[in-house]
Amino acid sequence: MGGGIQAPRDSLGQVLLALHEAGGTASRAELTDRLGVGRSVMGYLLGELDDLGLITIDRNGARTAGEGGRPSHLVTVSPSAPTVVAAHIDADTFSVGTVGLGGRVLSRSEHPLRSPHATETLDDLASVVSSYVRDGVLGVGLAVSSPVRTSDGFAPAALHMGWPGVPLRELMRERLGSVPLQVANNANLAALAEYRHGAGRGATQLLYLTTAHVGLGGATISEGRLFTGAHGYAMEPGHITVDPAGALCRCGSTGCLEVEADHLALLRLLGLTDVSLRDVAARVDALLAAPSVSVLEAVRQVNTRLAIGLASLANIVDADRIVLGGTLGRLYTLEPGVVRSTLAERAFLTDLAHTPIVPGELADSVLLGAAELALQPLLDDPRGVLKN
Ligand SMILES: [Zn+2]
Repeated sequence: MGGGIQAPRDSLGQVLLALHEAGGTASRAELTDRLGVGRSVMGYLLGELDDLGLITIDRNGARTAGEGGRPSHLVTVSPSAPTVVAAHIDADTFSVGTVGLGGRVLSRSEHPLRSPHATETLDDLASVVSSYVRDGVLGVGLAVSSPVRTSDGFAPAALHMGWPGVPLRELMRERLGSVPLQVANNANLAALAEYRHGAGRGATQLLYLTTAHVGLGGATISEGRLFTGAHGYAMEPGHITVDPAGALCRCGSTGCLEVEADHLALLRLLGLTDVSLRDVAARVDALLAAPSVSVLEAVRQVNTRLAIGLASLANIVDADRIVLGGTLGRLYTLEPGVVRSTLAERAFLTDLAHTPIVPGELADSVLLGAAELALQPLLDDPRGVLKN
């Protein structure tokens, strides 16, 4: 990953990132403002991106008036620009998609895990990923619900699949051959996607938490840089303790945030302990779509536990925005008061208790984040990647 996931230092890459974060279309005036460069410098940089085949410039297509009232050129990601393949292995499914600059998911498919064993799942995954890899694909980004060691892509704790520690990047490279492949934790990548394309845009210090199924993950993005720790294992907010007398966690501890605030916790509070893993998401969806009094009470309890965890995290991170992804965003929207009041009681400073909290905006945040991982080399150095 070179310098890791952060804003590129290369000015050509910065223009491309600005266009990418704008959804793939922006006026030249917007890009000029965003980068704080002169018109002639921007003209030169856009000319280079055009020469590389990454953008098209419509000189009559301005959608905003700028640059002294003159209409501005409209810059769009070229339809023939390179794409990447993004993939996500979760507790009982894997998904694969093609994603373009601008964070556009061009195609995607979802597949059940047919085996509890890593080797068979990775065989299946590699077969689908290979079918997506074609000319113009720069690389593959893979998200997994485990911490991932940056140096070698080792996934030590894919707890929800019940896998032992897996040398994930090595096993996938054996199966995929020479296509560039990067691997990272799914919540880290979802946070990155929300930061670049969704509810985290413009945050200086973003705290992100999410649950989509089983377990709970999260990440921090500080001034555009994903915080990954010394090995790549940071952060695992799902395993901070919110109730020492709480439920047993897959990690061996008790009362971890992830077993007290995920889908299974909500179902457990409602006495629904016999729902199969495959049906959990649909069951929770149905309950939250038309919540009864008892469902709302369970939501308040889950949200209280979530807020106990958030208070500890807010004390450490000093965020200027908290984004709650997946079901956490829905739970917060249903009962925000209990989150705010618990934060107010428990956060160390009043300012921290008032940190804005917003639901995630992206339906496909993990796949988009996995795509960011594969796009990062292009954003870091568009000339270098495309002229090789
Ligand atoms: Zn745990």
